[in-house]
Amino acid sequence: MLDIQAIREDFPILSHQVYGKPLVYLDNGATTQKPRCVVQKIENGYYNVNANIHRGVHFLSQEATEAHEEARKAVQHFLNARSSNEIVFTRGTTESINLVASSFTDECMSAGDEVIVSVMEHHSNIVPWQIQAAKKGISLRVIPMNEKGELRLDEYKKLFTEKTRLVAVTHVSNVLGTVNPVKEIIAIAHEQGVPVLIDGAQSTPHLKVDVQDLDAEFYVFSGHKIYGPTGIGVLYGKEEWLDRLPPYQGGGEMIASVTFEKTVFNELPFKFEAGTPDYIGSTALAEALHYVEHIGMERIAAYEQELLQYATERLNAINGMRIFGQAAEKGAVISFLVGNIHHYDMGMLLDHLGIAVRTGHHCAQPLMQALGIEGCVRASLSFYNTKEEIEVLAAGIERVKKMF
Ligand code: PLP
Repeated sequence: MLDIQAIREDFPILSHQVYGKPLVYLDNGATTQKPRCVVQKIENGYYNVNANIHRGVHFLSQEATEAHEEARKAVQHFLNARSSNEIVFTRGTTESINLVASSFTDECMSAGDEVIVSVMEHHSNIVPWQIQAAKKGISLRVIPMNEKGELRLDEYKKLFTEKTRLVAVTHVSNVLGTVNPVKEIIAIAHEQGVPVLIDGAQSTPHLKVDVQDLDAEFYVFSGHKIYGPTGIGVLYGKEEWLDRLPPYQGGGEMIASVTFEKTVFNELPFKFEAGTPDYIGSTALAEALHYVEHIGMERIAAYEQELLQYATERLNAINGMRIFGQAAEKGAVISFLVGNIHHYDMGMLLDHLGIAVRTGHHCAQPLMQALGIEGCVRASLSFYNTKEEIEVLAAGIERVKKMF
C-alpha cells in the first residue's frame, strides 16, 4: 500500500486551489508535477555546484561533471542498460526521436526504404520520419488497431518487405492508454533483421522498463513526464548502433579534435551531446528517478491500475459516456466524450470546477481520424491521485451534462 497523503505532501502544487476549488490535477500525460526533492536539487545545483562541465580543471567544474555523469548512471540503472555509454541526454522524447530519425536515415536508408509506425503514434513519432521521407524518398507503413485500441500484430507482420529498415512504435498510447506488446513487436522485427525504436514517453512514468529484456535498439523518454524537470530527456541506444550512427549536431563536447581540414568525433555518449548539456536538469532527472524507484515502479503500477479500474467503472456509469481505448493491457489514461458535448466545452467547464484535464487531438491526429472523432477529453492519472479526486471528476462530468 502507498501512503498517498504523505506522497501528496511531497508535491506542494497539489494543495493549490483554482477558482476557489481544490485543484484536481488529471493532466499527468502532458506533464507531471514535481516533488520537493527535484526542485531542491535544481536549486542546490545552481547555488552550490554550478560550473560548466567536462572542460574545467577547477573544483566546481569537476564536481558538476561528476554529478552529470552520476545522473547518466542513474538513468542507466533505471532502464537497466548495459553501459552508461548507451545513455544520451537530449531535450526530451521529441528531440531523441528527431536525433534517431536524422542520423539513422543518413546512415541506413535510401530512396524507397520503409519505416513501420503505428496508427496510435504521437506526432513526434510521425513527423520526424516524414521530414526524412521528404528529403530521402522513404515512406511510412502503418500498423492498424482493432476496435479495442490494440495493435493488430497479424497486420503488422504483413507490413515487412525487403525495404523495411526500422520499426518505431510507442510503448503506451498517450490517448488510448494501450500498453503495446513491445517485446513481441521487437522480436517480430528482429526475425526480419530490423531494428526497433520504442517511444517510452508514456511508459517510463508508469511501468518498470528493462531495455535489455525488451532488446530494443533505441528507447526514448522525457524527464518532465516522470516527475523531473522540463528540457531534459533521454535517448537509450545499443552501443553498436550509437557507434554506427553519425552525429546529429556539431559543436563543442562532441569532438575529439578539430582542424580546418578534419574533425574527429568524440566517443560515446558525447558524440551526440553537442554544446553545453543541461547538467542541472540531468541531476534533477536522476533525483526524480530515485524518487519513483524509492516508491517502487511495481507499487506505482499496481496503485495506478486500481485507480484506473475505479475511474473506468465510475465514468462508465455516466449516461452517454464513450471511453476510447478498451485494451486488455491499459495504462492509467481515460479518454472520453459524453453525449454530443464538445470536448472543449467539457474541458473548460471542468476547469472551472478545479479539474485539470486535456482536450483536443492530443498530438495524435491520425489516431483521431481512425477513431472518427475530431478530439476528446483525457484524464491521465498519477500515483498521487486519489479515488476522491475520481469522485470529483465524475460529479463534475454529471454537472456539465446538466448544463447541456
Ligand atoms: N510520445 C508520446 C507518446 C507522448 O505522449 C509525448 C508527449 O505527450 C511525446 C512523445 C512528446 O514528448 P515531449 O513533448 O516531452 O518531447
